[in-house]
Amino acid sequence: MDLRWFGKMVSAFSLLSALMLGGAPAQAREGGVIVSVKPVHSLVAGVMNGVGEPGLLVRGGESPHTYSLRPSDARMLDDARIVFWIGGVFETFLARPLDSLAGDARIVTLSEVPGMTLLPVREGGAWEGHVHGGGGHDHAGDAHGHVADGGHEHPDEGHGHEDEHASIDGHLWLDPANARRIVETVADALGEVDPANAAAYRSNAAAMIAEIEALERELDQRLGTVRDRPYVVFHDAYRYFEEAFGLNAVGSITISPDIQSGARRLAEIRQRIVDSGASCVFSEPLIEARLIDTVTEGLDVGRGELDPEGTSLPPGRDLYPTLMRALAEELVACLGRG
Ligand SMILES: [Zn+2]
Repeated sequence: MDLRWFGKMVSAFSLLSALMLGGAPAQAREGGVIVSVKPVHSLVAGVMNGVGEPGLLVRGGESPHTYSLRPSDARMLDDARIVFWIGGVFETFLARPLDSLAGDARIVTLSEVPGMTLLPVREGGAWEGHVHGGGGHDHAGDAHGHVADGGHEHPDEGHGHEDEHASIDGHLWLDPANARRIVETVADALGEVDPANAAAYRSNAAAMIAEIEALERELDQRLGTVRDRPYVVFHDAYRYFEEAFGLNAVGSITISPDIQSGARRLAEIRQRIVDSGASCVFSEPLIEARLIDTVTEGLDVGRGELDPEGTSLPPGRDLYPTLMRALAEELVACLGRG
């Protein structure tokens, strides 16, 4: 465990104890700060450290791609002063509700922040496009980069632009430079809606930026030995991570729960894995292990599991570094074999 993070946890805990033992709570949870998904929530929680707790919409083990808003979420949004989300390219479930907030809350769309690195989703070769209803999720409307379902409409998105905006990969927090940009953006925006705490947001943000820089160096070193090893994923979610650390993902495969009903599809997937030369295939918490067993049975590939959205992690400030370290560890554990 990184001692720096541990130290921060200890001091946060001390502060919390002090608040509980006496004195008025600085600002309870009614700050009205709402965040869509866990990785972004973690970064916002870090910026708000010692000031308040942001609310989180996709809280449990659900996939943000297939989430639908609950009545309690709708109430949280009604009371929101500020909402942070990636944008219509990612949390499609949120596009319509945010449109109907009628301007009460400030909405910060992180995929539209200047200076954010945006990468398109991949298609062609061993990269399967994101088909609605596929991607290992058993609902229609798997939303990687597709804004068709009620996404924001941009006036410049006419003919000739093709699908440029629509094909952005929304998992942008997996690039540590983007995570730092998110932290800066969050600190600025919170400072504007809550000027009394602007200095605290700024100093928390500065500390986090330094921590994310250290995390990036740590992971870069950790991944050094497996950089060239080819592997396959089941959900094209990792491009930011791959580009940031120079990894060698060679393909993605759309896998659906009814795979066993299609012998032809199964044979095709197995052939793709063989052809790609992958030494590992990585599944995800929301994909049934049985499916991956079927797909890889008898093939000479290692297996691992990646969790790019933190679905299996408890929400909070520590989720982001934990998520990033877990990705690196799992990649090294499988790709570094033998
Ligand atoms: Zn995803």
